[in-house]
Amino acid sequence: MIIDIHGHYTTAPKALETWRNRQIAGIGSPSEMPKVSELRISDDELRESIESNQLKLMRERGLDLTIFSPRASFMAHHIGDFEISSTWAAICNELCYRVKQLFPDHFVPAAMLPQSPGVDPSTCIAELVRCVEQYGNVAINLNPDPSGGHWTSPPLSDRSWYPIYEKMVEYDIPAMIHVSTSCNACFHTTGSHYLNADTTAFMQCLTSDLFRDFPTLRFVIPHGGGAVPYHWGRFRGLAQELKKPLLKDHLLNNVFFDTCVYHQPGIDLLTKVIPVDNILFASEMIGAVRGIDPETGHYFDDTKRYVEAAHVAAQDRQKIYEGNARRVYPRLDAMLKAKGL
Ligand SMILES: [Zn+2]
Repeated sequence: MIIDIHGHYTTAPKALETWRNRQIAGIGSPSEMPKVSELRISDDELRESIESNQLKLMRERGLDLTIFSPRASFMAHHIGDFEISSTWAAICNELCYRVKQLFPDHFVPAAMLPQSPGVDPSTCIAELVRCVEQYGNVAINLNPDPSGGHWTSPPLSDRSWYPIYEKMVEYDIPAMIHVSTSCNACFHTTGSHYLNADTTAFMQCLTSDLFRDFPTLRFVIPHGGGAVPYHWGRFRGLAQELKKPLLKDHLLNNVFFDTCVYHQPGIDLLTKVIPVDNILFASEMIGAVRGIDPETGHYFDDTKRYVEAAHVAAQDRQKIYEGNARRVYPRLDAMLKAKGL
């Protein structure tokens, strides 16, 4: 089985975006604020948006299952206040749950949280609980920078994040560390803000003792870990100077990287530098980079091709495709086992 641990609902019917735009327009003028009930998307529309996009590509590429979360750039936690984020997160999470219900063999949901800049992260617990208990979510996406590129929140090691971690540990679910749209003109959303955040989150873990407080807490750092694998020597050296344990003991029981790196040399480096047990297959399809690479004639985000061509043993490739995901996402594993898989 091939599990893609990083997919977003980037192809949701247009009505979703239209409703969101009305919600944003309604900030500050309550009479214009749309009701949740005014958003109507039929099962047929959901089915069509998936069948002709993600599911079509999954079938073409030989992927079986995608861990599916709301569109990352649309989370836009910086917009409005907690109430705005809360309503928006509930809508987006419900849509991913409905996709799972329509395609239970191919999509398993992961939740976005109703984060808001300057608001206590513990306010997200209710939505987290709802998504795990009612919707069967197997993970969350945690935004280390709800300000959208201004980094006004404390680092992930700050105790204000702990209530979320306590709930994650209780449910045994990982978090993908995932920022949203950049509203800082210096940072392109997917080209720099995402990769900056991946690198930043890793360094926040490195300088802290977060995983001493939460030995079973697990973070998935997407987009191949940002700059981390490429600069692994720098990070090992910094850890040494900071008198931290070796990275394999300090972080690698808790931090994992996905394969959303869109060329062969990048995957070759990732699989050479990072232990195979810490690499999870993902493509983030249909996502940031949608074109065809003229050098190969294949889609940049057809990451299975790179993993297939990487110099890893067959049993290690199987870990990347399935085994590691089942270990890092125990609720997914339990769900699959219940189906006899
Ligand atoms: Zn993503």
